[in-house]
Amino acid sequence: MATQSLHKRESDLAQSNRQLEILSNGIFQNGELPTFKSKISETNQFPLKAKKLEILQINIGYMCNQVCEHCHVDAGPDRKEIMTRETMQQCLDVIKNTGAHTLDLTGGAPEMNPDFRWFVEEAAKAGIKDFIVRSNLTIIRANKKYYDLPEFFKKHNVHVVSSMPHWTRGKTDKQRGDGVFDKSIKALLELNAIGYGMPDSGLRLDLVYNPSGAFLPGDQASMEKDFKKALKEDFDIQFHNLFAITNLPISRFLDYLIASENYEDYMYALVEAYNPAAVANVMCTNTLSVSWDGYLFDCDFNQMLELPVNSRVKHISEYNEELLEGRNIVISQHCYGCTAGAGSSCQGIVA
Ligand code: SF4
Ligand code: SF4
Repeated sequence: MATQSLHKRESDLAQSNRQLEILSNGIFQNGELPTFKSKISETNQFPLKAKKLEILQINIGYMCNQVCEHCHVDAGPDRKEIMTRETMQQCLDVIKNTGAHTLDLTGGAPEMNPDFRWFVEEAAKAGIKDFIVRSNLTIIRANKKYYDLPEFFKKHNVHVVSSMPHWTRGKTDKQRGDGVFDKSIKALLELNAIGYGMPDSGLRLDLVYNPSGAFLPGDQASMEKDFKKALKEDFDIQFHNLFAITNLPISRFLDYLIASENYEDYMYALVEAYNPAAVANVMCTNTLSVSWDGYLFDCDFNQMLELPVNSRVKHISEYNEELLEGRNIVISQHCYGCTAGAGSSCQGIVA
């Protein structure tokens, strides 16, 4: 398993235009498979339009203590893009005035941003209904300066959403690196010990599952059942919900697909599983993504592909909810990942 990001390895695929080229050429250019645009046009869903903003997702940096095989951010310890306090302040001005009900902090490992705690303390004061931090769990056990994160999350009533690709050591470590499973289990036990994830607790703890290879996730509800049973029986761990997320064919997952000669089969599988009912609720219709340097995107995937919002408003400092509402969403073939089967978003299925 690679221990460096594509950027550090100076891989071709670190460049977003190279990824977009791959997604536009080959089987999509020669008509073997329909483009996403033509597919959604069949049901008159083109152009996709942004509706009222409900979720503001802020990526506060691409640095991470892990280098997972499937990572769409191409995150890792070698990534230095980190949101400054100045940009955080611009985000806070928006958070205080937005009508969005959910604030979703992501990364990388958001906790590695030196201003993370300050930002959480300030953002929590805005009283947004659902304040999510996407934590990879292992960060809690990575260094003693992070050991008190569970208490910190509790103090600010943060909703913790954590990746956990499987309930077995082998499958988890294969995707996320050696030792990740054991550290994740320890972190989950610590979160449970202070009330996170317990059946009647208001301290929300959800897990995110994504497949460990070139296949689509199974049924979310039955996977949640299996995860709950196994984690309870093996470790006495509890959590609230499981979100099943499809891997989108970008960045390191695209690199993996190409290297394992699965790219075309995977695109076929996504297109075959296309579900027009999922299109209406893809997350870009109610979400806005902010990058570490304050630019605005329709989703975290478009952020990584450097496809900015189609609006006069490009940066959080010039934020205007009315101008952003109704914008045309920027799409490409990676969007098939959001509309396969029951659909996929940062909150799991959408249809
Ligand atoms: S998937 Fe998450 S934990 Fe893994 S490298 Fe990417 S940001 Fe880090
Ligand atoms: S990848 Fe982004 S833009 Fe495309 S459908 Fe999914 S959420 Fe929308």
